[in-house]
Amino acid sequence: MKKSNVTCSVCGKEYYLCIACDRHKVDWKPWKVIVDNENCYNIYNIVSKYIANNIYKEEARELLKTTDLSGLNNFKNLMKNKIEEILREDENVTFVEETVIENTIVDTVESAEEKNVKKHYKKKDY
Ligand SMILES: [Zn+2]
Repeated sequence: MKKSNVTCSVCGKEYYLCIACDRHKVDWKPWKVIVDNENCYNIYNIVSKYIANNIYKEEARELLKTTDLSGLNNFKNLMKNKIEEILREDENVTFVEETVIENTIVDTVESAEEKNVKKHYKKKDY
């Protein structure tokens, strides 16, 4: 077997590719430059679309269910993180809503405190 010269962008597996000779083969696919197999290619496409905001998280999750994620723990970090983000259930949405509410409260409290501080200074000055 020839020495590996390409690393799969999804699963991180190293493989050998010679574009000059391989592209003439009947089973040549342009994605072989980026990933080592069709499953990784499908995953790569889904995650790329998700990162580019072309599909919603829910759509990405449904699509990922059609792929083989059994090797996920060994995937490249960027891929693994994004896939885990996609697979995380909707509690994430609730979390975002909570954060927004919290921020609003914090803002109000901060501005209220600011007003108090200003009032306090005024009282001191006069
Ligand atoms: Zn792969």
